Amino acid sequence: SDVPSNDDGDVEPPPLAGPNVMNVILVAAECAPWSKTGGLGDVAGALPKALAQRGHRVMVVVPLYGDHDELQDTGVRRRYKVGWEDVDVQYLQTYIDGVDFVFIRCHMFNNLGNNIYGGNREVRFYSCRDILRRMVLFCKAAVEVPWYVPCGGVCYGDGNLVFIANDWHTALLPVYLKAYYRDNGLMQYTRSVLVIHNIAHQGRGPVDDFSHVDLPPHYLDLFRLYDPVGGEHFNIFAAGLKTADRVVTVSHGYAWELKTSEGGWGLHNIINENDWKLRGIVNGIDTKDWNPEVDLHLTSDGYTNYSLSTLDTGKPQCKAALQKELGLPVRDDVPLIGFIGRLDVQKGVDLIAESVPWIVDQDVQLVMLGTGRPDLEQMLREMENRYPEKIRGWVGFSVKMAHRITAGVDILLMPSRFEPCGLNQLYAMSYGTIPVVHAVGGLRDTVQAFDPYNESGVGWTFNRAEAGQLIHALGNCLLTYREYKQSWKGIQQRGMTQDLSWNNAAQNYEEVFVAAKFQW
Ligand code: ADP
Repeated sequence: SDVPSNDDGDVEPPPLAGPNVMNVILVAAECAPWSKTGGLGDVAGALPKALAQRGHRVMVVVPLYGDHDELQDTGVRRRYKVGWEDVDVQYLQTYIDGVDFVFIRCHMFNNLGNNIYGGNREVRFYSCRDILRRMVLFCKAAVEVPWYVPCGGVCYGDGNLVFIANDWHTALLPVYLKAYYRDNGLMQYTRSVLVIHNIAHQGRGPVDDFSHVDLPPHYLDLFRLYDPVGGEHFNIFAAGLKTADRVVTVSHGYAWELKTSEGGWGLHNIINENDWKLRGIVNGIDTKDWNPEVDLHLTSDGYTNYSLSTLDTGKPQCKAALQKELGLPVRDDVPLIGFIGRLDVQKGVDLIAESVPWIVDQDVQLVMLGTGRPDLEQMLREMENRYPEKIRGWVGFSVKMAHRITAGVDILLMPSRFEPCGLNQLYAMSYGTIPVVHAVGGLRDTVQAFDPYNESGVGWTFNRAEAGQLIHALGNCLLTYREYKQSWKGIQQRGMTQDLSWNNAAQNYEEVFVAAKFQW
């Protein structure tokens, strides 16, 4: 599989020194390469490594959804109450790139495969209670990991410890930390940071869901929320946001949007009240995984690794290989446009569909890779059937194809209606692929519009999520591709030479830990 090897052998964790060296435990519902449905998995796989490189002792805790041979059983067994049920839990582990990865195995997670969120991330109320029960179990088990799971022979304990929880799935963790420990005078020096990757999913349900989370009655108010859409309901994200010591979101633009009634999805009042502890930190990219120079998915089938110095030959070779693999006419002169992402209204795939009559009037090719809403999947297939010479609609989740498309296309479309950070535009830029994006959230932060007068900028942007605006921006982009080759090259070069690595972000997270520790 895609699992990276532990090329450090049995090297000990780096020695800890200095008052700001922390024990960091990141807790997430998914972690690449073992599990991934989107950007959260990428972040959980990469940020911890960057923190470890900066000298912290770092652990990731994640549910185990399948079998992976490289994981070792720690022998630790625990049992947790979830509603009426006692659930037995095992802890597995591995150590890669300076990070302890700890996996929680139990019958609730077994064999979910990539169906991590119970097959339904789109509804604003989770459709079944199973996912709530899974996350109760997961957070209960994760908050105890520093006490019961030794890594390299030694438990983390509570000294200088910070938990990083992610999205609603693990927003119960800060609440459990408080209710089970701090309220009882324990773990007084442990802090929690809750990261918002996407506010659209909140763990909403009826108020009597409170009976499933196993908390004292006075905790109910933290979860109770009223809004015009959901009425009075139970909201896990709300409780996490109120309880966490610090809140981070994945871009400055998104931090701002979360405070507005349109962008906060019912949580904007809580976010405004907690503004003092909110900070935007743009995600980085894993430069081992997403790097055209060493990308493992470019080493066969006619693709090739390339870098800035070999861009002129390497990228066209990848483009030809992609056209061949997709069964499109192999032509270097035709602009090849791509889209990769979950098929969801969020991602604006419907805007691309609306633009297709214009797109197929141009001499271009279009490839779209995604899974998600069945009607949008069907739409992809229909577009391909209708315009087989120009369009490929690849319905599926394929990490390999995502890499190959990122390398092979000239232009990547991201017409997202909202986008907390967005990773695909970052990957695109580092592969010399030009992003055309709706200027929103993290897309606005990371894609500076091309300015032909100053020869600056790294892509094209448009201000409203409308097909007409997408067409306008894409039209300008295509014009530059065809007529202004030097400008095009400049855009590619600027994109490829940005420092998009996780180190910057890790440094900013460090500042958040320090603030949580001392300004409490
Ligand atoms: P989100 O987290 O909202 O899904 P991001 O842009 O932050 O969006 O991250 C998406 C991640 O998921 C990227 O790594 C992207 O390559 C990957 N991805 C999305 N759809 C697919 C797919 N169909 N096949 C392979 N990878 C995909």
